Amino acid sequence: MRGLILSGTNNVFSVLCEDGERRSCAIKGKRIKDKEFEYNALAAGDEVEIEVDEGGQALVTALTTRRNAFGRYNEKGRAHQSMAANIDLVVCVASPSFPPFRPRFVDRVAILAEAAHVPLLIALNKTDLGVGEEIEERLALYEKLGYGIHRCSAESGRGVSELINLLVGKTSVFVGQSGVGKSSLLNAIEPGLGRRTGELSEKFARGKHTTTMAELFVLPGGERIIDTPGVRRLALRGIDPTRLDAYYPELAPLTPQCEFGLSCTHTDEAGCRITRAVEEGLVHPDRYESYLRVRFELEANAEYSAKEGWSVPPPRRAGGKRGDGARRQARYHGRKEEDD
Ligand code: GDP
Ligand code: ZN
Repeated sequence: MRGLILSGTNNVFSVLCEDGERRSCAIKGKRIKDKEFEYNALAAGDEVEIEVDEGGQALVTALTTRRNAFGRYNEKGRAHQSMAANIDLVVCVASPSFPPFRPRFVDRVAILAEAAHVPLLIALNKTDLGVGEEIEERLALYEKLGYGIHRCSAESGRGVSELINLLVGKTSVFVGQSGVGKSSLLNAIEPGLGRRTGELSEKFARGKHTTTMAELFVLPGGERIIDTPGVRRLALRGIDPTRLDAYYPELAPLTPQCEFGLSCTHTDEAGCRITRAVEEGLVHPDRYESYLRVRFELEANAEYSAKEGWSVPPPRRAGGKRGDGARRQARYHGRKEEDD
């Protein structure tokens, strides 16, 4: 029988089975092939095969290949943690204040959405508190980059039904920093969900809850929502730092134009198209800063990445300054049309 993983810990999973029953399942033989190194072998949204033995005990026997997965690096557990699988949309819930809008967090969620090859929707909640100019500018930038923007307020109800419309027919994973109102928003979407709101921050809650895993809900309209635990930061691993630009829509088309191509660190090389684009105002300086920070984080954890089957090339030192001004100018004029 087939089943859908709703939630679970390392050992016991809640599975919605094809006969409509919800069963608690352990994993047969305790292991899922290829998932031994993951923080949890199965993620909410996973499709599995289950069998029920004579004693009525249900067991997960196999995992159907995932279409995609959304996850983070669990720093405490020191392993990759898939939080959601087989998703169509990532919804990053943010707030303009209490807590303040954190574009760097959104950037990290965007990387994870790019990695899963699914669209990102930024849901700005608490709009009843007012949205400053700076945040509006930032949202406009995200929109330009191809990400969806939705303004709403769980408190006033503004934008909630429109948000539901964006979820129809999809499996959406909701992520957000603690306190942005993700639980309140989910309750506004579907009062029956009864998500607990106003929880203590992750910092204070530590030790109280041993494992927090994502949970999948099926709304009366059939929409699937995967709620993830509120986090303070999203740690990233396992991305080749030399290819991180591929996860930034505005950087990806520029790197082939760097004089040293893939070996360009996009920091101090003359002939780097990216640093020039920042100077020219084509790339937002804060997005560039965010790129550098994530890149340094990935490089600092090269050992982990190497374990995953690829290694990080050493930072290129010599040769970085070879490009000369005249050649740069010529190249720039030659490519001007492409840049516009
Ligand atoms: P979560 O940690 O993201 O799940 O956030 P909660 O849903 O627990 O909400 C955190 C706090 O923000 C609570 O005190 C909520 O009442 C408040 N809150 C949630 N949504 C809104 C909103 O749209 N406007 C305002 N002003 N406060 C909100
Ligand atoms: Zn470069």
